[in-house]
Amino acid sequence: MPGNSYMQSIEAALPLLSESRKIFITTHHKPDGDAIGSMLALYHYLTARGHDVTAVSPSDVPSFLAWMPGCDKLINFEAQSDKAIAALNKADIIFGLDFNDFSRTKHMDDMLKQASQPKIMLDHHLHPADYWQYGISRSDKSSTCEVVYDFINICGDNAMITKEMASCMYVGAMTDTGSFRFPATTASVHLMIADLMGRGIDHTRIHEEVYDSWSESRMRFLGYVLIERMKVYRKYNAALITLSRKDMQLFNVQNGDTEGLVNYPLSIAGVRFATLITERADEVKMSFRSKGLFDVSNFARLHFNGGGHFNASGGRSTMSFEETISHFERILSDIHPK
Ligand code: 5GP
Ligand code: MN
Repeated sequence: MPGNSYMQSIEAALPLLSESRKIFITTHHKPDGDAIGSMLALYHYLTARGHDVTAVSPSDVPSFLAWMPGCDKLINFEAQSDKAIAALNKADIIFGLDFNDFSRTKHMDDMLKQASQPKIMLDHHLHPADYWQYGISRSDKSSTCEVVYDFINICGDNAMITKEMASCMYVGAMTDTGSFRFPATTASVHLMIADLMGRGIDHTRIHEEVYDSWSESRMRFLGYVLIERMKVYRKYNAALITLSRKDMQLFNVQNGDTEGLVNYPLSIAGVRFATLITERADEVKMSFRSKGLFDVSNFARLHFNGGGHFNASGGRSTMSFEETISHFERILSDIHPK
């Protein structure tokens, strides 16, 4: 199903892959489990089909994903931009995974917009941009990994799924569904997981690698943040966590250490809307999560130049960290989320 009026369905792109091609795959900046999982699963699959594949992450891979099969093959654009640009220039086809607007790749935005090769999107976010020629855009899907699984099946290649591909797809489905509990965890997700389990994956180990690989300082940082930096707005069924650069320096916070932080307030009875405001070197980043009928994708789009999914979205602010917090509180009192 095409996601916009310009994009053709994925079936129309299949002839492009009928002979060996140079393929460039990328994902969004600050990649998460679904971004890296989907990119690596597709990397393994297209390589197995005889293509020459280069996978580029716009920024470095968090350490809790470094164990993933093929992670050592990834090019980090921020560290090796020349290599990534050379791969893009010689590519015949571009795949974009787990995002639908090139601005989400940050520093690769312009070069991707200017690239003339066919662009194929595999994604599950709302409101895709109109420059993709082909793709699958399914906001009802749990994860981009589930979309990659569908893509492999549409290609008629279910039998080609290896343990490595299955492990990668398991990571994205697991992380984007909050370990198979969010509403997007449909029967089709469980059917896919059953299929992936049949390829010999070690799901207990995967869970441990992703969730039980914290440093001691990350754990203490979480304790500090929940005590000192979380505000609960009972009246609005909402909560806010704010992370300043100073706080993060104090605990030597590493890339990936803030992953999942925004979800903690949703475990408080009555809290239906959680926000994380993070002060970064060059911007103020926002993460939004909700339970039930409060559309945080719309909220992010309207107020913070962002987007995402109905119950999980993100955005950014051009104001200072402190001004962003006050601005957020003003909006909260105006909209009174339920
Ligand atoms: P996170 O809070 O984990 O950064 O992002 C949550 C969801 O919102 C993800 O699916 C992510 O792709 C999307 N998202 C995060 N930041 C942005 C943004 O700045 N713009 C858009 N359009 N989506 C975002
Ligand atoms: Mn995703």
